[in-house]
Amino acid sequence: MTSITLAAPLAGWAMPLTEVPDPAFAQGLVGTGMAIDPTVNELRSPCDGTVLSVHRARHACTVRTAGGAEVLLHLGVDTVGLNGEGFTAHVQDGQSVKTGDRLISFDMDLVGSRAQSLVSMMVVVNDGYTVDGQSVNREIAAGDPAMTVHGGSGADAAPTPAAEAAAESGETAERTVPLRIAHGLHARPAAALVAAAKAHPGTVTILCRDRSANAKSVVALMGLGTVLGDRLTIRATGPGAQGVVESIAGLIDSGLGDPVVEGAATPAASTSAVTPVQPAAEEDIGPPFASGEEALLKGTIAVPGQAVGTAVRRFRRSVRVAEQGAGAQIEEPRLRQALDRVVAGLTQSAQRMPDHAAIFQAHRELLDDPELLDAALADIRAGKSAEWAWQRTARVQADALAALADPRMAERAADLRDLEQQVLTALSGKEPSVGLADLPAGSIVLADEILPSDLAGVPAGRLAGIGMAHGGPTSHAVILAAALGVPTVVALGRQAERVPDGAPVVLDGNRGELLVFPPEDMLATTRTAVAARAARREENRRTSREDCRMADGTRIEVFANLGRVSDAPGAVVEGAEGCGLLRTEFLFLERQSAPTEDEQYQQYQQIADALEGRPLVIRTLDVGGDKPLSYLPLPKEENPVLGLRGVRVGLREPELLRAQIRAILLVKPAGICRIMVPMIASPSELQAVRTMVDEERAKLGRAEPIELGAMIEVPAAALIADRIGAVADFLSIGTNDLTQYVLAMDRGNPHVAAQLDALHPGVLRLIRLAVMGAKTHERVVAVCGGSASDPMAAPLLIGLGVTELSATPAVIADLKAFIRTLRMEDCRRVAEAALGTDSADEVRRLVAEAWPGL
Ligand code: PEP
Ligand code: MG
Repeated sequence: MTSITLAAPLAGWAMPLTEVPDPAFAQGLVGTGMAIDPTVNELRSPCDGTVLSVHRARHACTVRTAGGAEVLLHLGVDTVGLNGEGFTAHVQDGQSVKTGDRLISFDMDLVGSRAQSLVSMMVVVNDGYTVDGQSVNREIAAGDPAMTVHGGSGADAAPTPAAEAAAESGETAERTVPLRIAHGLHARPAAALVAAAKAHPGTVTILCRDRSANAKSVVALMGLGTVLGDRLTIRATGPGAQGVVESIAGLIDSGLGDPVVEGAATPAASTSAVTPVQPAAEEDIGPPFASGEEALLKGTIAVPGQAVGTAVRRFRRSVRVAEQGAGAQIEEPRLRQALDRVVAGLTQSAQRMPDHAAIFQAHRELLDDPELLDAALADIRAGKSAEWAWQRTARVQADALAALADPRMAERAADLRDLEQQVLTALSGKEPSVGLADLPAGSIVLADEILPSDLAGVPAGRLAGIGMAHGGPTSHAVILAAALGVPTVVALGRQAERVPDGAPVVLDGNRGELLVFPPEDMLATTRTAVAARAARREENRRTSREDCRMADGTRIEVFANLGRVSDAPGAVVEGAEGCGLLRTEFLFLERQSAPTEDEQYQQYQQIADALEGRPLVIRTLDVGGDKPLSYLPLPKEENPVLGLRGVRVGLREPELLRAQIRAILLVKPAGICRIMVPMIASPSELQAVRTMVDEERAKLGRAEPIELGAMIEVPAAALIADRIGAVADFLSIGTNDLTQYVLAMDRGNPHVAAQLDALHPGVLRLIRLAVMGAKTHERVVAVCGGSASDPMAAPLLIGLGVTELSATPAVIADLKAFIRTLRMEDCRRVAEAALGTDSADEVRRLVAEAWPGL
């Protein structure tokens, strides 16, 4: 064990990490260390060492000490969005540095006015190190001893022995997903990804372009230099690899805490023909822009999209609070009344934004916390004002929450900061918002920062855009703005305060710009573009919930694949006509004991309720192979993927299967669920399950029959689909496993991943056979494997006779829109041609020629 004292990399006010206005740093998710609010514009090395990486936005770099500690130096909060503007790097990756060497210099005025905060962090990010002796809550000079780092196992540099042992188990899983966040894997999303990866005992690697990174290392992930639109491959080994891959894929897909840029595939352009206004120093913002004085303010993209409208100023004046109160008899009822007003406001907000009711419910729970009230009342009884007591209590509590190593608590801390403001505003006698409830139509609200509570009061259709002087692109408010579809630009700087009320403005969320008093022709063209986009979007929304019919009228059902209860409502919003595959093993993957029948029933019922009467296909447990269950030890097998998997496990452990069948049979209304059985190879297997279903149905006294389907994922099942169709009510093709078994390529093996394509003509021929076999009994054939989500596969599958696609929720609206443009005769022609090719590449070329827009 070695120790090293790090020197302060900047001069300024040193503070504990908990005071950093960024929850990921504040609660230690990124690493342990301290922060400095700088008074100088040069970042210097805190130690002798090697520069591991300089971020491509030049706002952060990592230095590795001789002992292996990786020290991340991060200038400012939300500075990644400046994309390097205002920062100059003086070192390169791999360079040796000495303590005090200049690493990065920065333009304090520019960065200070455009970033959320200049407070800069120094944190040790790899495992195996502890930090103490932080010299904080004082002025510090660059080079002063700042904190001491102990340790040296270098746990992050290489997989741990536990990870290696887990990897030895031979289970691997892999999945590729697009990165849909504006600034790539910067510190905050990287920290969220690391938190998920660390929960997995095996190795987790992220591959992007030709680089790979240990997903348990923030530095390694940041070092990938990812950008919006990159495709990230998540690769995991060890028990539960599939589960961790799926859960990380879900996290990446939902933005890892950053707002998701919908439909984005490439980095947003940031060019403009108009000369930008240089952000001015804090004290000198200049007079209001005169009428007709064209000005361009540059900020950071938060919610893409364009808006034309009228500026509505809502700059918040900070509430000054007096410490001394008028006595407990006056102050206590004042505080209680203010809390009641805020609670009433939250209830209304939840009603206005039902999709986000959980946020307001969380706020209500915080206000109900007796400890919070007791602490504030104690201050009041000690003579303080209600404002002072509430502010102090809320801040202490928020800091405490932020310091907890639970990511959910960061949200709570942010919520509490919002509540601090709301209660203070209520105490001041004003409405608890910046007044977005009374907006005229076409308003582009300009404010220093918008809070989630402000957005709750917005009447539909009035708020056209948001420009914030401060704020980051990742805040809760931005997430809500994105949900409302309101283009938003943040970090415009205090120049935004020069925009007069009522000025015509164009807010360009695609470029991160605000144009004040734009020329008439620009107003007109932007208006036309905005209207066209809005019309398209409206059209898509309108149709996404409708049944899906091809251009020639053929009905194709588009369902969703689900793995979590919480996915169901979103899938319906996307236009899912039901759930075509509920992967029940995902509901119970993390458990140490088998879920009870009632626990299973509760989950299924919740999903059925969320689907509002749409069909729900519940697949019986598909464990074994790459999906082990800790509470169900299976014998060690040489080739688990060819061993006890899917229905084979269910027939071996009949009580487990029967309990699941009973739970499904209990779901109301009775006709809503169908049962689907994985890995069927022979009719007798399905027949055995049918006997169990009938017996359990009789025991429960349920008269209504339930449909029982077979998954076609074993080649033999495709070949004898006519025989299986005789005992199955429907068939659903699992192209993931079918492809693996047809091509003899392990779906978890990275060496064959590039060739593992479900559009291989061999797979397509088997799909045709399965469809033909099913037709002999007039059975519906669905596809619920990955190719149902692949737009290139859709015309082929439809051309081969598949009538139902069960896809991942995120693609459903697009998929339905595309299917609506297809004609059956074209699909049949191209599918027929595809069957006569030699490779998946050739098939993909055929599809691209037939549908060039893909
Ligand atoms: C499949 O194999 O295509 C399928 C849908 O099942 P899973 O991916 O869950 O194995
Ligand atoms: Mg499968």
